[in-house]
Amino acid sequence: MEGVEANKTHCIVLAYPAQGHLNPMVQFSKRLIQKGVRVTLVTTHFYCKNLRKENYNSISIEGITDGFDEGGAMQSAEDWETYLNKFWQVGPASLAELLEKFASSGSPAGCLVYDSFMPWALDVAKKYELVGAVFLTQSCAVNNVYYHVHEGLLKTPISEHTISLPGLPELAVKDLPSFVYSPDSYPVLSKLIVDIFSSIGKADWVLCNTFYELEEEAVKFLSKVWPLRPIGPAIPSMYLDQRHQDDTEYGLSILNQNTEVCLKWLGERPKRSVVYVSFGSLASLNDEQMKEIAYGLKDSESDFLWIVREPDEAKLPKHFAQTLQKGLVMRWCPQLQVLAHDAVGCFFTHCGWNSTLEAISLGVPMIAMPQWTDQTTNSKFIMDVWRVGVKVQLDERGIAKREAIKQTIKEVMEGERGKDIRENSIKWKALSQSTFNEGGSSEKNIDDFVSTLMFSPK
Ligand code: UDP
Repeated sequence: MEGVEANKTHCIVLAYPAQGHLNPMVQFSKRLIQKGVRVTLVTTHFYCKNLRKENYNSISIEGITDGFDEGGAMQSAEDWETYLNKFWQVGPASLAELLEKFASSGSPAGCLVYDSFMPWALDVAKKYELVGAVFLTQSCAVNNVYYHVHEGLLKTPISEHTISLPGLPELAVKDLPSFVYSPDSYPVLSKLIVDIFSSIGKADWVLCNTFYELEEEAVKFLSKVWPLRPIGPAIPSMYLDQRHQDDTEYGLSILNQNTEVCLKWLGERPKRSVVYVSFGSLASLNDEQMKEIAYGLKDSESDFLWIVREPDEAKLPKHFAQTLQKGLVMRWCPQLQVLAHDAVGCFFTHCGWNSTLEAISLGVPMIAMPQWTDQTTNSKFIMDVWRVGVKVQLDERGIAKREAIKQTIKEVMEGERGKDIRENSIKWKALSQSTFNEGGSSEKNIDDFVSTLMFSPK
């Protein structure tokens, strides 16, 4: 065993410290391990220390510094700019030190898979002569838009009403990522996200958390400019293929997810009766929007499970959570187990890319209420391209009012349109699962990636 272990290419998977970035890289790491690759997952020291690793044994995890080892990413950085500048400054040396530690302990790294949000990692990979593979955690469609902005082929600010780009359907301006149609709202992030496209073409592999059948045209277009391979959906294999039903490690979180309470509550509800509501790990809604959602959910008379993270709790109507007859409010939940539960009828979502892929892969219809970044583009595809959901209507101030929320829930849970959406969702679920069959598109891409690692000189 010892000898076999030593011969495996050691692959370092470098994850950006945010839930939506860590989750797909953890699942991708597990795929590599299933195929015989030795993997070390690397993230920041703060994240490493705070991850809930109980029942999580399959991957070794190591830390590097982002300059905020005690306070975590955004907890102590005054703003994104401070955080990212510091990380850029100290991250490369810390990663190099870790690589040297692996080499001196007889387990040198042969490959570095890094999140595109840390483009500096490619320079470290090149310095140590590693295979460098960039990992895109957003959809191919969104990456396609950013590629065009970076190349100067889509000029901002945008003056047209609709945009036509190769590999994409016609998009209204507000269907583009918010960093593109409104770059001044988050100038640092908008710049970062476009800048990462400077080095992508120099990576040996460009891995994207999507699947070919879902984004065929965008994949075909980007494959002409980068060595692109879709390897998703990066969710636990127990949901996708029969060969790995024992893969019950769902994800790594820094939040407590109260699995038992949540699954017991769902277990007491009829099939397809529950609206699951979550806006992910970062989005924060304003007071008025929180109240409209609260009353919209209540007025819909559906059972609902609503994830309200701590910072948003005070925005709920007084005693809301305590007086509910048909709802449960929690701070965090095991989302994949919830989406896979028979009791869940639809997902009221902010359309984060992981949430979108998870709902598609588990065949759950969506009600879309995008907030920012790539979510606006994802919601366009959910509603008009894959036809697996409906966007909730906003008023002239951008607020989804309770009446609109109630109507949309009824439409998706009970209406004719809901039936059509459910049928499409079932179709996409089957296609998503086929990607990891023997010879399936993502399975084949991962096999190609792994086979070149096994034959690489290191
Ligand atoms: N998630 C979870 N429990 C929750 C809410 C979210 O496990 O209560 C997970 C979800 O399954 C997904 C990730 O957190 O994998 C959120 O990523 P996404 O890209 O959807 O949104 P972001 O948090 O990046 O905005």
